[in-house]
Amino acid sequence: MLRGMMMGVPLLVTSVLRHAARYHADTEIVSRTTEGPIHRYTYADAWARSQRLANALAALGLQPGDRVGTLAWNGYRHLECYYGIGGSGMVCHTINPRLFPEQIAYIVNHAEDRVLFTDLTFIPLLEGIADHLTGVKAIVVMTDAANMPRSSLPNLLCYEDLLAEQPAEFAWPDLDENTACGMCYTSGTTGNPKGVLYSHRSSVLHAMAACLPDVFGLSASDVVLPVVPMFHVNAWGVPYAAPMVGAKLVFPGAKLDGASLHELFEAEGVTNTAGVPTVWLALLNWLHANGKTLTTMRRIAIGGSSCPPVMIQRFKEMGIEVLHAWGMTETSPLGLANTPKSKHRGLDADEALALASKQGRPIFGVQFRVVDESGADVPRDGRSFGRLLVRGPTVCSGYFGLDSSPAHETEPGWFETGDVVTMDGDGYVQIVDRTKDVIKSGGEWISSIDLENIAVGHPAVQEAAAVAIPDEKWGERPMLVVVVKEGASLTREELLAVFEGKVAKWCIPDDVRFVEALPHTATGKLLKSTIREMVTNPATA
Ligand code: AMP
Repeated sequence: MLRGMMMGVPLLVTSVLRHAARYHADTEIVSRTTEGPIHRYTYADAWARSQRLANALAALGLQPGDRVGTLAWNGYRHLECYYGIGGSGMVCHTINPRLFPEQIAYIVNHAEDRVLFTDLTFIPLLEGIADHLTGVKAIVVMTDAANMPRSSLPNLLCYEDLLAEQPAEFAWPDLDENTACGMCYTSGTTGNPKGVLYSHRSSVLHAMAACLPDVFGLSASDVVLPVVPMFHVNAWGVPYAAPMVGAKLVFPGAKLDGASLHELFEAEGVTNTAGVPTVWLALLNWLHANGKTLTTMRRIAIGGSSCPPVMIQRFKEMGIEVLHAWGMTETSPLGLANTPKSKHRGLDADEALALASKQGRPIFGVQFRVVDESGADVPRDGRSFGRLLVRGPTVCSGYFGLDSSPAHETEPGWFETGDVVTMDGDGYVQIVDRTKDVIKSGGEWISSIDLENIAVGHPAVQEAAAVAIPDEKWGERPMLVVVVKEGASLTREELLAVFEGKVAKWCIPDDVRFVEALPHTATGKLLKSTIREMVTNPATA
């Protein structure tokens, strides 16, 4: 073998922020702070303060490889943690504060976090679980001395005081690009959450892919506001992707309601944003109720759950392109992104919407297979269902602290996603369901996502879930559980009528249950196990 003669410069996240600080020094990073006011600074400032933070971590006695937890909203100090912790050869372990307190305690202990960085918001949460956090030697509150809380927590430190004591230059270690820099636990709706450990290499490669024109399509002329939290799968890579191209970054902090998002979008001239469908549903309702629109937005990436076609259409009416995308904690997360190809230019509106509603095409770097029960590839005809398997440098090869995991043992070298999908000849993948959520009626599979998308197309429906209920004759039958929009009224018959002609007769739900609200996971997905329990066993729900 003849080796290439190119420099073996490692792919490190530190090089991303260094690049932004050198060539986009005065490009702004704007944050809505937990304390209240809007904070503004630049990539040059973020770089200097990340180095102060790296010095502070060393002064605390932390070592390369140590896990450092964060409980924080999207904001500039959290960005400094990403780079200061990761660049020091430590692991920035972002923790989802929406998990149950017991799960958070489990995660902190399992990861063996030595220090936690927290926003003011989460002090009460930490006070509640402090007794269980035996390995944590200090908690750093991400605020200044004036806003430090009174708290029973031991070893409470002030972030701004720590940084003020340190120089703004740090001798970043020469790291192997496979060194871990970040960590995120899966939401764990069944069993304990599992830790995914991202490397510098995977994070840089993922950020490059995220910037591609057919993915987030980011550039130095963009203003990007990640609504998707930095505590879940690195806000889909935006904190690495934006500095890589020098895009202005806007962080929304804790305020994710329609009015607050609209205010920031318009005030800062946001062109790109990303988040789960529930956030956009709330924003669309707010825009409608207040007669407003978004004047600078160009592209909204929507993923995490299926994006209903009606949502794509409503944004399109405002001149905004929706990028439907698919990913997982285990895939960094981006795997599929949906933009049309040149050959799709002549599609009529209905065909274009049907295409845009799929989860998208494989992003370079992630390989996809769709296989049947025996492990054989199913035809790429857009109709044949199969289990989705993935592999690539941004896909996890195992979970932290677990020797083996059933999730990726099914086909050697491939990660079993747990999703059932179809793929067409152009590579567009449609998620039919999670394996455990698909409704099996008389030997046929019914996609709960299809039924939900049709139901939310009814103007009176706020949110809908389709679940299987046991049936003597068919095994399972679909049932709809629906939240009606405030002030609207809807009968079972009116709702079921929208299914006529849209799905085969046997796929139409047998019944509808109207509820006040639907339960969600900590990452905003419908909590199907609890919803099934609500309908099959109403007394316990
Ligand atoms: P998580 O690791 O918590 O982000 O969850 C990953 C799972 O979310 C995937 O395996 C899918 O089941 C689901 N998911 C992500 N994006 C989409 C999407 N665009 N449409 C449907 N399901 C999605």
